[in-house]
Amino acid sequence: MKKVIIIGGGFAGLTASAELLSAGFHVTLIEQRRFLGGRAYSFFDKKAGIELDNGQHILMGCYEKTFRFLKKIGVADKLYIQKNLCVDFADNRGGTYRLDCLPLPAPLHILSGILRFKALSLTDRLRILNIARGVLGGSLTNSSGNCSVAEWLAGLGQSEQSRDALWDIITLATMNEDPDRASAAIFKTVLRKAFFTGRKGSRIVLPAVPLSRLYVDAAETYLKQYGGDIQKGCLASEILIKNCKVSGIRLRDGRIVRGDYYMSAVPYHSLQRLLDAVIPAPASAWVNSAGIHGLDSLKSSPIISIHLLFDKPITRYPFVAAINSPIQWVFNKEMIYSDNAYKGLVSLVISGAHHYVDWTSDKLIAMSLSELRRMLPLADSAKLLYSKVIKERAATFSPLPGVEKYRPDQKTPIKNLFLAGDWTDTGLPATIEGAVISGLKCAKAIVSI
Ligand SMILES: Cc1cc2nc3c(=O)[nH]c(=O)nc-3n(C[C@H](O)[C@H](O)[C@H](O)COP(=O)(O)OP(=O)(O)OC[C@H]3O[C@@H](n4cnc5c(N)ncnc54)[C@H](O)[C@@H]3O)c2cc1C
Repeated sequence: MKKVIIIGGGFAGLTASAELLSAGFHVTLIEQRRFLGGRAYSFFDKKAGIELDNGQHILMGCYEKTFRFLKKIGVADKLYIQKNLCVDFADNRGGTYRLDCLPLPAPLHILSGILRFKALSLTDRLRILNIARGVLGGSLTNSSGNCSVAEWLAGLGQSEQSRDALWDIITLATMNEDPDRASAAIFKTVLRKAFFTGRKGSRIVLPAVPLSRLYVDAAETYLKQYGGDIQKGCLASEILIKNCKVSGIRLRDGRIVRGDYYMSAVPYHSLQRLLDAVIPAPASAWVNSAGIHGLDSLKSSPIISIHLLFDKPITRYPFVAAINSPIQWVFNKEMIYSDNAYKGLVSLVISGAHHYVDWTSDKLIAMSLSELRRMLPLADSAKLLYSKVIKERAATFSPLPGVEKYRPDQKTPIKNLFLAGDWTDTGLPATIEGAVISGLKCAKAIVSI
């Protein structure tokens, strides 16, 4: 039986492990932390007495490979799935608007939603048709494909109001970066997949239970059932290379684990450390098949999550997108989880949070409360019982224009080493779906050797 060593127990590593085990390989999964799940996990908060996510994760109906993985491990029923795309928006003057798409074939469904979306003037709604041309008919702007989302939107006649009420919110949610900094090329891929491929692909899908309860427990059970060897609390410190082949992985405790194939499913900054230990800097240049660019060219973008527990519900919607507010989303966990234990809990998201990441928790909470009270009238009379701020400084890589050339393929010049992770070349921004796709690609490459 061929043996595969996988470093990293996030979505990428777990998907690859499950795939390889069911294809008859022996898998050893090495994870530095005492729990699996990587950047998408939940933990029991003793003070709140409930389990909280490290950050709200939004899936979309087009996350096909993720749903396939969740089905494989038997948890596809633990999701909150919309029938059709429907998003409630609130502005900081108390106005509310609904983007409500009719059950029509794509892209008519999204058109039906946009044309009735009253947060935008009629002229702006009609101008959104230009986006369809921009996505489906190729670039109308910078032909190099290296422009930012903001430049691309401006080239397609999108007004400031359109950006405030729609585009900035979509860009930050899907790219974790500000439109002025995010790559238009990647954004176009997101729009094409989410809005132009099929009606169901546009639906918002949310975990209906805390993240670790959604997939980590089930993935662990699945891997063990198939004979997987899971080593938690084990830091890989070095990839050992001999005669142009990986010969083993050295762990921090000095042990060396050996297999036939090796897969890194760690973030780019962790891989850089693993490689720098063995190859003189800049090790990263070696990873890219082109051999000219480096991992150190990738930058991180932060996400701040703010969990607020009130004495009563502050919104009657499952989630609300915030117009013209530093807080981009408010998730009503009581409704999403259908669980009274979460009564009064909302989770706020600030993506691309470069400007806010150094704020103190107190300042972030004060700002959040003031924004909520302006947006959601029910928040005015609600009493805050508990709060928890979680800053993920390296939440994702930053999808800057031109970043594609720094994202390596899953196959490397070293025949028995493969790279997975949301940052590898998937064509997508850093998402669960990208991580899962990268894990599947690695598994497929190993199976077909
Ligand atoms: C707050 C937040 C909100 C997000 N929101 C969304 C969202 O709404 N929708 C969406 O699709 N995506 C979202 N994402 C992104 C998503 O979480 C990631 O794309 C995905 O989880 C990445 O999975 P991965 O397996 O590639 O990497 P990771 O999850 O980072 O897994 C890598 C694993 O490797 C381990 N590791 C690292 N170094 C070593 C080492 N030397 N030895 C052993 N183990 C090691 C780490 O501990 C980790 O467990 C969000 C991320 C964050 C942080």
